[in-house]
Amino acid sequence: MKLSNFINGEWQEGEATYTAVLNPANGEQLAEVRMSTKEDVDRAVKAAVNAQKKWALVPAPKRADYLYEIGRLMKERKEHLAQVLTKEMGKIIEEGRGEVQEGIDMAFYMAGEGRRLFGETTPSELADKFAMSVRAPIGVVGLITPWNFPVAIATWKSFPAIVAGNAFIWKPATETPMMAYEMAKIFQEVGLPPGVANVVFGSGSEVGTAMIEHEDVKVISFTGSTDTGSKVAELGGKHLKKVSLEMGGKNAVIVMEDADLNLAVEGILWSAFGTAGQRCTACSRVIVHKDVKKELETMLLERMEKLTIGDGMDESVKVGPVINKNALEKIHSYVQIGKEEGANLVVGGEILDNGDLAKGNYYAPTLFSNVKPDMRIAQEEIFGPVVSLIEVDSLEEAIEVNNGVKFGLSSSIFSRDVNKIFRAQRDLDTGIVYVNAGTTGAEIHLPFGGTKGTGNGHRDSGVAALDVYTEWKSIYIDYSGKLQRAQIDTE
Ligand code: NAD
Repeated sequence: MKLSNFINGEWQEGEATYTAVLNPANGEQLAEVRMSTKEDVDRAVKAAVNAQKKWALVPAPKRADYLYEIGRLMKERKEHLAQVLTKEMGKIIEEGRGEVQEGIDMAFYMAGEGRRLFGETTPSELADKFAMSVRAPIGVVGLITPWNFPVAIATWKSFPAIVAGNAFIWKPATETPMMAYEMAKIFQEVGLPPGVANVVFGSGSEVGTAMIEHEDVKVISFTGSTDTGSKVAELGGKHLKKVSLEMGGKNAVIVMEDADLNLAVEGILWSAFGTAGQRCTACSRVIVHKDVKKELETMLLERMEKLTIGDGMDESVKVGPVINKNALEKIHSYVQIGKEEGANLVVGGEILDNGDLAKGNYYAPTLFSNVKPDMRIAQEEIFGPVVSLIEVDSLEEAIEVNNGVKFGLSSSIFSRDVNKIFRAQRDLDTGIVYVNAGTTGAEIHLPFGGTKGTGNGHRDSGVAALDVYTEWKSIYIDYSGKLQRAQIDTE
C-alpha cells in the first residue's frame, strides 16, 4: 500500500519518493509513505487558504455536525483503527483501543463546542454602548505530531481547529502515517469541504520546516521532543507564528510511607511500562519514602518479572516493542550510563532477542534503585521501559526531587494523608497531577500540557485548546448617535 497526501479533498498523484513503514513488533513492511516536498506543502496551504475563507462563514454548529459524523465513523471503525494503530506504533491492542476512544471522545466533545464557543458580553463604561468579545478563527494552522500517539494528539489539535473555523495541514510522524491516512479517508467520507483538512506526509526537516516558514500558515501546533520543539519555536519566532508546544517529560510517582503499596505498584507498572514507557506522561522516576523503599522495590520486582512481552496484537501481552532500532539503542545507552553513574540495576537492562523477539524492537522492563536525583538517568527523558527508584526522607524532599528536572508534564502521589495530598497538588510543578493513580490517564475535556521544558504555556484538549486556534476579537457597538470618547467623556 502506498500512502499519498490528502490535499484539497483528493489523493495526490504523481511521481514522488516513498519510504517504508515498518511494524515495530516484527519488522514487516506495512506500507510505503510519500516523502513530500516544499512544493507539496505549498499546494496544501493554497488549498487550505481558499477553503478556510468559506469554512469560517459556516455557522459553528454546522461545522460541529462534521465532527459528530467523524466521531460516529471512528466509533464504527474502532476495532479496525485500533489494529492499524497497534501494528504501526507497537502499543498493545488494549491501549490502541483506548487511544482511538480518546479520539472519538474528542470528536463528540469538540462538536459540543460548536454550540458554545463562548465569548463575553460586558457593560460598557459609556451610556448607550454595548461591548462583547468573540472567538474568531485564525486561518490556516499547521499541526506536527509525534509517533507515540498517532491519532489522539492529532484529534486534540485538529478538532478544535476546525470547529473554530480554521483549515489545517497535518504532518504526522514518518514512523506512523497509517492512522493519518485512515483519518484522511474519514475526512473525505464525511464530506468536509475540500481543503479544510489536509494531510501531508514527510520529514520534519522538509515538510515541518516548509509549514513553519510558509507565510499563510498562522499557527503551528507541535507535539514532540523538547529538542525539536525548541527548533520549531526558534524558526516560528523568526516568522512571527503563534507556536504551541507540547514536549518531553520526566514524570515521577511519589510513594509516601502511608500509601496503599499494592495500589502504588499497580499505578507504577501501568505508567512506567504501558506503551513500553513511550508515553510523554510515562513514569520514569519513583520517588519513595525511605520507610517503604525496600518493600516497594521487592513488590515491584516481583510484578515486573511477570510482565509478558511481545507483539501487542496478542491480547495476553502487557509490554509491546519500542518504535525502532534507534530507540532501542538510545534506551540501552542510558542503561549503560546508569550503571556507570553508580545506580543499582535491579532487573532488566537488556535488548531482548530470543526467538521471535529478535524480529522486533524489544527492551526488557528495567528497574534501577539507589538512584540519586542528579544522575542523568533521573534527569533526561529515556523514552523506554526504564524506571529509577529514588529514596527520600520527607514529603518536602519528594516534591523538591520531583520539581528538580527541566520538564514539568505529569506527577503523581500515593498517600492516604489528606494534608500531604493537598500540599503536594499545590507544590508539584507539573501541568498534570494525579492522586492515588499513576502519571497517565488524561481525560480530553481537561487541558493537557506541562510547565518548564515541557511546554510554552499553551494547552492541548479541553476548552483551553480553543485558545490556540482562535483570536479574541473585542467589539464595541455605540448606539448613542454621538461621538463618545472612552476614558475622556466620563461625565
Ligand atoms: P520528534 O521531536 O522527533 O518529532 C515530532 C514531530 O516533529 C514529528 O512529526 C517529526 O517529523 C517532526 N519534526 C522533526 N524535526 C522537525 C523540524 N526540524 N521541524 C519541524 N518538525 C520536525 O518527537 P518523537 O520522537 O516523534 O516523539 C517523542 C517525543 O514527543 C517525546 O519527547 C515525548 O515526550 C514527546 N511527546 C510529548 C507530548 C506532550 O503532550 N507533551 C505528547 C506525546 C509525545
